[in-house]
Amino acid sequence: MPSSVLEQPVQYLKGVGPQRAKALSELGVRTLRELLLFLPRSYIDRSTSTTLRALARALHQQEQLFHSPLTLGDSERLLYSEVTLIARVERVREHTYGSGRQMLQASISDDSGVGGFLIFWNRLDYYRRLLQPGQLYAIAGRPTLDRRGYVTFHHPELEPVESEDEELYRIGRILPKYRLTQAARTAGLSQARLRRLVAAALEHARAELADPLPEWLQQEFQLLPLPQALEQLHFPDSAEQLARARYRIKFEEMLLFQLLLGLRQRGVQRERGLPLSPKSPHARWLLERLPFQLTRAQRRVLWEIAADLESGHPMNRLLQGDVGSGKTIVAVLTMLIAIDNGYQAVLMAPTEILAEQHYHTLRRLLEGSDLHVVQLVGGQNPRLRAELLEQIASGAAHIIVGTHALFESSVQYHRVGLLVIDEQHRFGVLQRARLRELARSSLGTNGIAPHVLVMSATPIPRTLSLVLYGDLDLSVLDELPPGRSPVQTKVVFESQLPQVYEFIRQELRAGHQAYIVYPLISPSERIPAKAATEHFEYLQSEVFPEFRCGLLHGELFWYEKEAIMRAFANGEYHVLIATTVIEVGIDVPNATVMLIHNAERFGLAQLHQLRGRVGRGQAQSYCFLVTRDHFRFHWRDGNPQERIAAIVRLRTMEQTTDGFRIAEVDLQLRGPGDLLGTRQSGIPEFRYVNLVTDGELISRARHAAQRLLERDPELRHPEHLALRRLLRERFGADARFLDIA
Ligand code: ADP
Ligand code: MG
Repeated sequence: MPSSVLEQPVQYLKGVGPQRAKALSELGVRTLRELLLFLPRSYIDRSTSTTLRALARALHQQEQLFHSPLTLGDSERLLYSEVTLIARVERVREHTYGSGRQMLQASISDDSGVGGFLIFWNRLDYYRRLLQPGQLYAIAGRPTLDRRGYVTFHHPELEPVESEDEELYRIGRILPKYRLTQAARTAGLSQARLRRLVAAALEHARAELADPLPEWLQQEFQLLPLPQALEQLHFPDSAEQLARARYRIKFEEMLLFQLLLGLRQRGVQRERGLPLSPKSPHARWLLERLPFQLTRAQRRVLWEIAADLESGHPMNRLLQGDVGSGKTIVAVLTMLIAIDNGYQAVLMAPTEILAEQHYHTLRRLLEGSDLHVVQLVGGQNPRLRAELLEQIASGAAHIIVGTHALFESSVQYHRVGLLVIDEQHRFGVLQRARLRELARSSLGTNGIAPHVLVMSATPIPRTLSLVLYGDLDLSVLDELPPGRSPVQTKVVFESQLPQVYEFIRQELRAGHQAYIVYPLISPSERIPAKAATEHFEYLQSEVFPEFRCGLLHGELFWYEKEAIMRAFANGEYHVLIATTVIEVGIDVPNATVMLIHNAERFGLAQLHQLRGRVGRGQAQSYCFLVTRDHFRFHWRDGNPQERIAAIVRLRTMEQTTDGFRIAEVDLQLRGPGDLLGTRQSGIPEFRYVNLVTDGELISRARHAAQRLLERDPELRHPEHLALRRLLRERFGADARFLDIA
């Protein structure tokens, strides 16, 4: 017999026989506890759902944007959030197109007296059954206007409002919507039935619903107690109570994650590290050779780093800074400290191109010193590789630059004291921890953890960095080197290109240089390189005949690219015509113009990186974002969301050069997954928390986790044992350091 009512199987409830129990278990609900935690996916709330009339008006307003494409009102956000609409299906029709493609179209109407349409292309069988004329539905999605000006939803989420719920809806109750499968419905599980089951479960189990969050924390952070929160989530009394209940659930989810990070951070802080003296003759030598003084921010960050290195515990620090803030030199000086203490330094980049660039930067900076820099990447010839491995093993190599290949078992290091990870958001918290372990063992420092400095290439919004880098100490370069004035940015149309080219010629005559960038539409297509090539000839012979143009694209061999880049850096080319290969790392302070064709196709982070290639010297720099004259028509067949997003991106670039602000907008536009490149982003999945909109909550949960760990660093107080158990349930092996202490 299960000891707790909460662990009773759902069959315990009246009205649940074997068939419904099976349907429920397919939804992940086997016990009463799971039933209580089977939270509604969304709610039907008459007071917050919109009407077809209001939608039509807002969408028409939006459409006006395109008549004067680059001025935006506040309505720009409207289409980014889903809307919920309650409407009745009038008629369902099917079309078959010449190509044989079928479409299902339902006309809808609501009390506002306006009509609209739902359109379906896929799973027609399913929708044919679901869509019943006369039936009321909750419709959620992102509407558009069709050619005739009707509000249209393509593949919205659809939930029939059951007839017994219509009355509740009419009197203004907030109705939960549970995720119900077809199988569940067939087994007789309607929304209303499910609510009754939940009510029964609450009744039976209420007494046993203990809150895992300690009293003091609930009070300090004004959280609804769990039993009340669950009750409100299933049976909301009001929108406010529901909001508090959701907050409570999200808070717990984020609190657990922040506890995990906090425990990890504290765990690392307790570990034994290599005490390194910050006195470094090589660092002093380099500083004297630099043609500039460090900024105040750079000096402050170096102090923070030096304090870590001296502490006897391993450094575990994130270095954030906008494009051009001078992160590289900070990393190099840190490496020199490690080297002068008798250790090797390892620099890992996410891609071979970036590793290559770091390698050359280091070689250039350390030219004339007695320090030896080597590079380990894939595809090196075996003789060279053997030689490099030998230099690494013997300690003849002081700095080793590379990609993941750095951690292959064949590499034997000689006393590695510092690992610098230039990561461009490629690694998540957990991956990074594993990487660190791997480094520690492969580096062979007798269980003593090496110092780790992580550099992020692009600014990350603060709340997101609390999630991605919450286990690291943070240093921010919040100051650009002096004498840099912000790059002046202007969106121009293709018809204005002659004037822009004339402007560029003036800059070139004044001795400056320019980049002209073409989009890489798809890396597998050969078109982009060809397009650049075609334009190259035209630009060289027709537009810039008295200047020299270079051509750079991704299909060249690396040594060709390098030769061209070097020639540009030496001033042998005045104009560099390129694809986005120049996005990262290129540093030619004499270049003052960046012109980007089809700028509407680029993402914000990319535009910011590209623009970051200019404005690196003393002279005023300019960025031109070129787009089609008839933006509106150009995008006619495209997705309207994408059309608006493009406008917001271009406007943002015109309005600010602050990478952190740009990152915030990017997060709003794309969501965290896309922002960081979904696949490898390492962003943990959250069930309830929304990383885009829950920023405030994330900060508070972080704060709560810190308060908890200050009181009870290992979560051993009896009132914290429930949290400890939850951590272990949630994170499994990744929570093992709970026991390290
Ligand atoms: P990022 O932070 O984007 O990696 P870099 O490290 O590439 O920036 O530095 C950008 C440019 O600024 C480089 O040319 C670098 O030499 C230069 N730089 C770095 N620090 C300073 C400084 N304190 N004063 C002037 N120029 C600097
Ligand atoms: Mg850099």
